[in-house]
Amino acid sequence: MAKEAILIDGKHYASLILDQLKKNVEYQKKENNLNVKLAIILVGSNHASSIYVRNKINAAKKIGIDTELIHFDENVNEKNLLAEILRMNSDNSISGILVQLPLPKQISKEKVINTIAPNKDVDGFHPLNVGILNSGYEGGFVPCTARGCLELIKLTQVDITGKNIAIVGRSNIVGKPLAALLNIENATVTLCHSNTINLAKITSNADIVIAAIGKPLFLTSEYFSEKAIVIDVGINRVDFENNYKLVGDVDFDSVKNKVSYLTPVPGGVGPMTIAYLLNNTFEAMIRNNIKH
Ligand code: NAP
Repeated sequence: MAKEAILIDGKHYASLILDQLKKNVEYQKKENNLNVKLAIILVGSNHASSIYVRNKINAAKKIGIDTELIHFDENVNEKNLLAEILRMNSDNSISGILVQLPLPKQISKEKVINTIAPNKDVDGFHPLNVGILNSGYEGGFVPCTARGCLELIKLTQVDITGKNIAIVGRSNIVGKPLAALLNIENATVTLCHSNTINLAKITSNADIVIAAIGKPLFLTSEYFSEKAIVIDVGINRVDFENNYKLVGDVDFDSVKNKVSYLTPVPGGVGPMTIAYLLNNTFEAMIRNNIKH
C-alpha cells in the first residue's frame, strides 16, 4: 500500500484555540467589564479581500469579539484613510486594527502600516513589532499566518531545534516573520525566493518545507523528501468544472503519497491565521487595559 502523509488538521486545531478564546473573552466581559473589539478597514471590492474580511468578522462574532468595519471606496484618498486609522488609534473601545491588503495604487501601504498604533497592530506588520520579533524579544505582535504555521509544525511534535527548514516565499506577511520565529526555535532556516537557484535541491534536503509563493500546485513531489513536513500557505483560486476551487502552492495529489506530514488547502493554514488574528486582538485588549 502506498504511503500516505499524515494530514495536519488546521481547522480542528484552530477551533480549539477559538473555543478557549471565547471563554477568555466571556471571562473578561463578566469579571472586568472589558470588551474586545476588532476594527477592520477594507478598501475597494477585491473579491478575495471581501471574503477574507467576511470570514474574520464571522469568526470574531462567534467568540464574542465585537467588530467595526469601515469600507472605503476604491478611489479613497490616502489622507482620509490615514485619518480613519488615527481615529481608531485614539478610540479606547477599539482593541485591534486591521487594514486588509492589498491596497489600491494611490495609497502607500508603508504609510498605512506605519500609522497603525503598534499596540493595536494585531497583524504585526508595524516596524516596531517587526523589530521586536527579529530581535527575539517578547511583547510585540507576531503576524498571524506565520504564527499559525509555527503552531502547525509544533503539532507534529517533531523537535524543531537544529532542523533544516526551507521557506519558499519571503513576503513580509509570511516568509520573513516565519523565518524569524523558526530562528528563535533554533532551526536552520533557508529563505527562498524567485531568484533562488535550484530550489528543488534546497527543498528536497529540508526536514520541513513551508510554501508561500502564490502559485497554484507549483511544488510537485520532486521538491520533497519522504521525511518532509510540508506546510502549504498558498490560497489560489483555479477554474474547476465551470466554477472554481481553492488549491495551495503544493501539488497535494502528487505529494500526499510521498511526504510525512502535509497541511490541506483549504483547512490547513487559513483557519489558523484567523485564530491567531483573534488571539492577537484579545491580547491587545489585555495589554492595553490590564498589563502595564
Ligand atoms: P507574495 O507577497 O506575493 O510573495 C510571494 C513570494 O514568493 C515572493 O517572495 C516571491 O519571490 C516568491 N516566489 C514567487 N515565485 C517563486 C518561485 N517560482 N520560486 C520561489 N519563490 C517564488 O505572497 P504572500 O502574500 O506571502 O502569499 C503567498 C501565498 O500565500 C498566496 O497564495 C496567498 O494567498 C497565501 N496566503 C495565505 C494566507 C493564509 O491565511 N492561508 C495568508 C497570507 C497569504 P520574490 O520576493 O523574489 O518576488
